[in-house]
Amino acid sequence: MDYHKLINRQWILKARPTHELDPDHFEYKESEVTAPRSGEILLKTHYLNIAPVMRMYMMADGGGYSTERILNIGDVIHGRGVAEVVASNHPSYRVGDFVHGQVGWQSYKLSVVSAKEKWRKMTARQLPIHYGLSALGMTGYSAYCGFMDRGQPKPGEAVLISGAAGGVGSLVVQIAKAMGCSPVVGIAGGQTKCDVTLQLGADAMIDYKNEDVEERIGELLPDGFDVFFDNVGGDILNISLNHMSRYARIVLCGGISEYAKKEPFGPVNYGKLRMKGADMKGFFVYYHADQFNIAEEKIAKMIHQKQLKVLVDIVEGFEHMPASLIGMYHGTNIGKRIVKVDSSPEIVY
Ligand code: NAP
Repeated sequence: MDYHKLINRQWILKARPTHELDPDHFEYKESEVTAPRSGEILLKTHYLNIAPVMRMYMMADGGGYSTERILNIGDVIHGRGVAEVVASNHPSYRVGDFVHGQVGWQSYKLSVVSAKEKWRKMTARQLPIHYGLSALGMTGYSAYCGFMDRGQPKPGEAVLISGAAGGVGSLVVQIAKAMGCSPVVGIAGGQTKCDVTLQLGADAMIDYKNEDVEERIGELLPDGFDVFFDNVGGDILNISLNHMSRYARIVLCGGISEYAKKEPFGPVNYGKLRMKGADMKGFFVYYHADQFNIAEEKIAKMIHQKQLKVLVDIVEGFEHMPASLIGMYHGTNIGKRIVKVDSSPEIVY
């Protein structure tokens, strides 16, 4: 391979955000690509993940929630990607293998194959490789493990899901329906997102940007919910606490509405948990690594049996990485947002 002909395109941290992200926080850079030494592999990035948590990596204090090392100015921004092994000096990796893991915002990665890069070799399933960032990767594992393990849903139970038209939320909606939960009610911003989620099988949707969420939950779930899978936190979480059935479970998957708040947020209705004997449970996907294989198998089966549609929002072009992340905080994505790094044809593996 002619390594000197390859260019590694990178996005690095230029300035730290304190609240909202803007394009001046990012800088584009190019660097050279070198051959892997003993024990190393060279990866070519095909797709990069866009995730709300990325802003935390860029903040001085990790925003209180950073799950990766806090970046220094000039570092390549952290991010998971789907990549292909294009050169290998490692006994467990062959040229042509696909992996997903901590590639970073760059078009090539020379990897020392360390645990912190969290590589997972992809299984050939005759599905698009970008599913490794949505249904068959951390997004799918979050939906499946968070809902099944932390939510403990039973057939016939009422389920509420916020961020229901997003990457994790759109999968939880479909998993809940497939296991016989009823009704399955989603919350999302805007009519288009509500319509898309109804088409995925949700029984009803609440448009939190145009409807009174408190009133609508009361109408749609008069006996309360049994499981609330929460992706957004903030006021919606607080309102939900008024609508629990006895022994309800609330899964705290994400709190995107709180991430850029200047003041910390506290749900004043939390005392209702006591009255309902309910549980509010934290969820962190990496604590469920022993369940990833089973989650992936179940979701892959659902896809092949046409029980689950993978809702992806693919942005074409590495140059759009910053705008893709900034937009996510304004709800510009429908389904799992990922960026296709180059213009090569879609790969099915
Ligand atoms: P996503 O839901 O695809 O995208 C984020 C969505 O959040 C936006 O499209 C937007 O949808 C909504 N949003 C943005 N600002 C909001 C606000 N102020 N109030 C209400 N909704 C708002 O993202 P994802 O990658 O699937 O992640 C979903 C959540 O899960 C995130 O909070 C993420 O941090 C969390 N997560 C946690 C874990 C874990 O291990 N705990 C793992 C993966 C993801 P609308 O247009 O509907 O507002």
